[in-house]
Amino acid sequence: MLNTLTITAAHDKLRSKEISSTELVQACLDQIDQCDEQVSAVVYDNRESALNLAKSIDEKGVFDHALTGIPYMVKDVYCEVGVPTTACSNILRNKDYRPPYESTTTARLKDCGAVSLGKVNTDEFTMGASTETSCYGPTMNPWDLERIAGGSSGGSAACLAAHQALFSLGTDTGGSIRQPAAFCNLAGIRPTYGRTSRYGAMSMASSLDTTGPLAKTVEDLAIVLQAMAGYDTFDGTTVNTPVPNYRSALNEDLNGMRIGIPKEYFIDGLNTDVAASITDAKKVLQSLGVEFVDISLPHTKYATPVYYVLAPCEISSNMARYDGIRYGHTEPTSTDLVQYYFDTRTAGFGAEVKRRIMVGTYALSAGYYDAYYRQALKIRRLIKQDFDEAFEYVDAIISPCTPSPAFVKGAHEGDPVAMYLEDIFLDPQVLAGIPALSIPCGFARNERKPNNKLPLGLQIMGPQWSEERLLNIGHKFQTVTNWHTHVAPIS
Ligand code: GLN
Repeated sequence: MLNTLTITAAHDKLRSKEISSTELVQACLDQIDQCDEQVSAVVYDNRESALNLAKSIDEKGVFDHALTGIPYMVKDVYCEVGVPTTACSNILRNKDYRPPYESTTTARLKDCGAVSLGKVNTDEFTMGASTETSCYGPTMNPWDLERIAGGSSGGSAACLAAHQALFSLGTDTGGSIRQPAAFCNLAGIRPTYGRTSRYGAMSMASSLDTTGPLAKTVEDLAIVLQAMAGYDTFDGTTVNTPVPNYRSALNEDLNGMRIGIPKEYFIDGLNTDVAASITDAKKVLQSLGVEFVDISLPHTKYATPVYYVLAPCEISSNMARYDGIRYGHTEPTSTDLVQYYFDTRTAGFGAEVKRRIMVGTYALSAGYYDAYYRQALKIRRLIKQDFDEAFEYVDAIISPCTPSPAFVKGAHEGDPVAMYLEDIFLDPQVLAGIPALSIPCGFARNERKPNNKLPLGLQIMGPQWSEERLLNIGHKFQTVTNWHTHVAPIS
């Protein structure tokens, strides 16, 4: 079962020549063949080129980087030269879009010798919290196949929980790395806005989008983030500050660290198992020397409404390029230009993307700009201020990642607002541009299937550029807990 290894374990075996990259890649591909019909994580597999790359790496036989020869999966919004990339939208899928250029992240991983196995499912253009808006249909959760794996990076999480790869790439605009990681018992990090490059990752809402990894352990996550992070001349929002050595900070002592618990995250209706898991996590961290402080982030309740004004505004602008001429599917029904756009976009986009284009266009229109867009920007500033003030007293903040565990497929059908509320604990950090880590912290009971326990995530947030500290806290937590070692029944 080579495919169940962590990156660190696989790297040791590759280096000692106990296993080859080809065997590792083949084990992942076999696992895809065996279980992806049920999970539906993979939308395109690149097996021939993955095996060729692994073979050439084995021939060279140099495994000096921790990622050399390690197979991984890519969320279907990262461009890889010549590899179909659809954002799980018919507007690109129908055109068989193959990018002529490479995203900075996949290029950096390629330089380390990591082996891309292909593309995994996402909500259409990453808009959603369950992968149900994907044109390929939903990805199911390996912990319970009646439930979704989360979203939008549901494919990135499910493929790891099903051991089809050793790590994966996601994007997080409003929680899309952290929530699927929580639902699938994985580690996932949303880096500080500007820490990782967005170049070549298709945009949803540009002032909120971030790229980041998912992995089986915090240590693995640190390795991948290290390879991704840093200034990129192709992305003007990346910041030219040194990237710390994340791995070497993992074992720092937590003694004397102060962590805040914000009361606003313990809302009515919070799942009781979720609440209990945070109390337990607090005890674990206390045993490691952490001191806890009750804090308040008073504008928290506005985060999700503000996000769902600002994100659609930016979406309405970003989606304009998919008009059948510059990018995307063509519906050659009319010689009239406006009708041509209309037909193309009507056929190419799904309902959620259309809804957000309409909401965003409305909120940006002359008569409503001040009432919605400008107002939302002002509240965004207050939400950031809440964090700035809190981080004067505490080093980090913890909260539940989600109000409840993975939900049953179709649970929010026809109710977009219920789906939006799934992000309630994940939007404040996004608006403030700060990093946040999600790690396994327990399980919830599953009333429908008592034998299929449901993973829960602990969210650890910190000030801008504090990834090193968050990974340190997460790793120390994992040295004294074993939640992350539980495996999904399907694997
Ligand atoms: N649920 C959020 C949304 O639908 C998450 C999006 C994301 O992070 N890509 O907007």
